[in-house]
Amino acid sequence: MSEQRMTAARWYQARDIRVERIAVPALGDPHQVKVKVAACGICGSDLHEYAAGPIFIPVDSPHPLSHDRAPIVMGHEFAGEVVDVGSAVTRVAVGDRVAIEPILSPHRDGAYLMERYNLSPQLGFHGLSGGGGGFAEYTVVGEHMVHRLPDALSYEQGALVEPAAVGLHAVRQSSLKAGDSAVVFGAGPIGLMVIESLKAAGAASIHAVEVSAARKQRASKLGAVVHDPTEATSWSGSWRPAMAASTSPSRSPACPPCSTRRSPAATPAARR
Ligand SMILES: [Zn+2]
Repeated sequence: MSEQRMTAARWYQARDIRVERIAVPALGDPHQVKVKVAACGICGSDLHEYAAGPIFIPVDSPHPLSHDRAPIVMGHEFAGEVVDVGSAVTRVAVGDRVAIEPILSPHRDGAYLMERYNLSPQLGFHGLSGGGGGFAEYTVVGEHMVHRLPDALSYEQGALVEPAAVGLHAVRQSSLKAGDSAVVFGAGPIGLMVIESLKAAGAASIHAVEVSAARKQRASKLGAVVHDPTEATSWSGSWRPAMAASTSPSRSPACPPCSTRRSPAATPAARR
């Protein structure tokens, strides 16, 4: 029987991502699941890898966990349907709709080994560090990397789970308490997720600092008071910085791949 092929987007080098036909991945151990990708976001990290990579992508030597290096399939913000499972998989079954937690960290028997597995020195990301990714028709991940989607969530919403977790984590890392006010610098996708998380955390008022018309409009629609630093308005208050948020490419691409090795990606500041 001939090998099954699929379409995938692979990073070769900066400004060189190729859409090509490659082999459909197969299960490699009993704790893996095969996912048919239904929706995948394009992260700021992906843009940075395209424009100025490699940043995370292993080129000269294979990543210690994926044992893979460029060219690699990109895409780490995705959701899809489970189409095959290894014999030892218990968390999901064929037909389940799942969101992917793309963290590569030491694991055994379908579980991460470290409690804070996101802090492993060997940290990598499915879709950045080799071994497959969401910019493909199919990919294979460990069962510890999939989370079943509630029926009410679409695949597109499932693809937003990973960036939403970034915003939620930023708020949890801050010292914000219900009733506090907060300011978010930058209302791109992560900043907007921070605003949503602040609302869920009970922030009394939320301010957003942004210059883009589209982003200002979106932040306002979510309920934030928008401030444009290029306009001659002023505002004041007593603010206690809790974290830092920026979308500057040189400082903080907006997702865990970059925020773990660089400065924090999303910055709410709480006011007493
Ligand atoms: Zn990302």
